[in-house]
Amino acid sequence: MAKTVGILGSTGSIGTQTLSVIRELNSRPESAFNPHYTVKALSCGANIDLLMRQIDEFSPETVCVSDGDSAKILRKKYRKLNVLSGEDGLISMAGEKTDMLVTAITGMRGLRPTLKAIESGTDIALANKETLVAAGEIVMKRAKEKKVRIIPVDSEHSAVFQCLKSTFKGGKRSVGRIILTASGGPFRTFSEKQLLSVTAEDALNHPTWKMGGKITVDCATMMNKGLEVIEAMHLFGMAPDKIDVVVHPQSIIHSMVEFTDGSVIAQLGLPDMKTPIELALTYPHRGLSDRDRLDLTQLGGLTFEKPRTDVFRCLSLAYDAAKKGGVMPAVLNGANEEAVELFLGGKIGFCDIARLVEGAMSDRISGGVCAAGPDLDAVLEADGRARDYVRRSVNCP
Ligand code: MG
Repeated sequence: MAKTVGILGSTGSIGTQTLSVIRELNSRPESAFNPHYTVKALSCGANIDLLMRQIDEFSPETVCVSDGDSAKILRKKYRKLNVLSGEDGLISMAGEKTDMLVTAITGMRGLRPTLKAIESGTDIALANKETLVAAGEIVMKRAKEKKVRIIPVDSEHSAVFQCLKSTFKGGKRSVGRIILTASGGPFRTFSEKQLLSVTAEDALNHPTWKMGGKITVDCATMMNKGLEVIEAMHLFGMAPDKIDVVVHPQSIIHSMVEFTDGSVIAQLGLPDMKTPIELALTYPHRGLSDRDRLDLTQLGGLTFEKPRTDVFRCLSLAYDAAKKGGVMPAVLNGANEEAVELFLGGKIGFCDIARLVEGAMSDRISGGVCAAGPDLDAVLEADGRARDYVRRSVNCP
């Protein structure tokens, strides 16, 4: 038995960890519970050297790179390999039927490839939350119509996905609320004044998780948790007022579900993304990992706090966008993507991120009207408008 896999963003944090999980899974005896994983397609941005090492090890049929020059180099070196490039190439690669596509690229640019994979009937291991934030209704509706499974890789959503298996016969009726945990990021205890002077370097120093630049900054502003609230809404069909956030700095409880009888089921584990990645690949079975185990006696304690939404305003802005619905989450996401890029480039300060996102969400920029069920064009248009606003606000055309 074999399971074919494609990876969007194979040289990033989730991409490399996915290949490492596949290496581990394939080193175990093949069985009905542990199929052999065949990597059919890989895509990457700039890290061609690492991509070449991945091609040598996993022999994919298709790869996609961001630019034409890199594509030429690869075509010369690998005569039999199907080499694609650019956004069209990425969409085309995503459309090649595999059993599962791991969407491990960052940002809205994951949207079209994800939709294309759904059209081809490929199950999605979702590690690209921006896609669901901006166009959750469109993506979930199409996945349902095409009977495609969307399995979360995000550690919180993987936790909720597992906890929800305890609904018994009540189904969704027996779910009271979802409780997402947040590490609080590197500035959890900072005052508003202290936040004014933090740099990109400070923000990139996350206390518990090693991740890419964009998501690490999102963790520092707590926008990441806001995006995850919207992601959870779509994945699990819950209203935003039934999704709470609690700060849990140790990142041991990855999230919880409270049921209508008051029982709370939590999923615990060491903070290691390989666990949710492996579950997405092996579901509905569990793997036989020999990774480090959680030793509760070594932990000292698990603590919980209310999020400081007055200081970390991105989280409240995300709740506002979730409640308004329509294209507002796409506006929130587009503005945030641009603002984070400007922050990482040293063009704006840390507190400007929330300010710019709030500005983009104003009636004048967002249009104010939030019709339910926007189509793809409306989402892309709103995303573009939000990005324009952010760049114009700081004179970066
Ligand atoms: Mg997460």
